[in-house]
Amino acid sequence: MIEIVGGGLIGLSCAWELGRRGIEAVVYERDPLGVGSASWAGAGMIAPHGEAFPDEEWRQIGVESARLYPGFVAAVGGNIDFRPASEGVDGQVDPRDLLRELSKQVRTVQRDVTSLAECNGEQVVVCAGAWASQLAMPVAVEPVKGYLLAWDHFPPGTLPDILRHGETYIFQRQHGRVIAGSNEERVGFDRQIDAAQVAAVLQRARALWPPLADKEPDAVWFGFRPATADGRPVIRRIDARVVAAYGHYRNGILLAPWTAAWVADEVQRQLTK
Ligand SMILES: Cc1cc2nc3c(=O)[nH]c(=O)nc-3n(C[C@H](O)[C@H](O)[C@H](O)COP(=O)(O)OP(=O)(O)OC[C@H]3O[C@@H](n4cnc5c(N)ncnc54)[C@H](O)[C@@H]3O)c2cc1C
Repeated sequence: MIEIVGGGLIGLSCAWELGRRGIEAVVYERDPLGVGSASWAGAGMIAPHGEAFPDEEWRQIGVESARLYPGFVAAVGGNIDFRPASEGVDGQVDPRDLLRELSKQVRTVQRDVTSLAECNGEQVVVCAGAWASQLAMPVAVEPVKGYLLAWDHFPPGTLPDILRHGETYIFQRQHGRVIAGSNEERVGFDRQIDAAQVAAVLQRARALWPPLADKEPDAVWFGFRPATADGRPVIRRIDARVVAAYGHYRNGILLAPWTAAWVADEVQRQLTK
């Protein structure tokens, strides 16, 4: 049995990919709805072109993961709001759709893993996002809080493309919801909504897309991006039993299919040794 700690998009995708290859996996997630995860909060841009990467190698991995996305979404199946990236143009996916569809196909157990010593699987995969440092991982990760704002009353198709300026972006889900973000705050796991931060994102969004000027958002939420000091994800074998896949920072939704394939290859290799 393969044990996966963390049921955000990375953990669920790894478990799903292992399952596809006939390898049984269980996901331990402390929050059954995934509502506290970065993945639930994320915008879902598949943005190898518009996003920042720590270096060219990671941008290329981003391009490769964007290429894997259509096959990934089709294989997961169900009802997923997805627009593929194409040459020079970023795509988007609703990460909550992916979490829901993957959860139907993956065995998840509600459990708060306080130490890897509690796990006794043949292989253990740490997909604990911004919380991975609590599991004594060798590379520290820090939560970087970011807000998103949403408006529900625009007709579908109002905004065909992602609008971007600096750290501000606005795009529309297929069913009509317009989403604007974001900001970056290093305030630990602070779960308060900070009105000043929200007002600043709102002001930038209205400057970028004037139709928002007279409309208050219908929803506001935040998430904790998992950030390492050098911005590089930690996707590597730790020891004969433990594999890490955390620290995806601003690109974890983009990088999910590539990460799942890498982890499944690595676990498979170890099992057949
Ligand atoms: C506002 C915002 C916008 C974003 N926009 C984008 C975007 O447009 N495109 C993109 O690619 N990425 C985006 N991201 C980044 C992306 O959301 C993350 O990189 C990605 O979701 C990380 O996934 P994960 O599964 O590693 O972590 P998470 O989704 O945070 O999941 C980790 C899970 O592990 C669980 N967990 C942790 N420790 C334990 C434990 N000890 N025991 C049990 N369970 C545990 C947590 O409860 C959590 O559910 C955005 C993030 C934010 C906050």
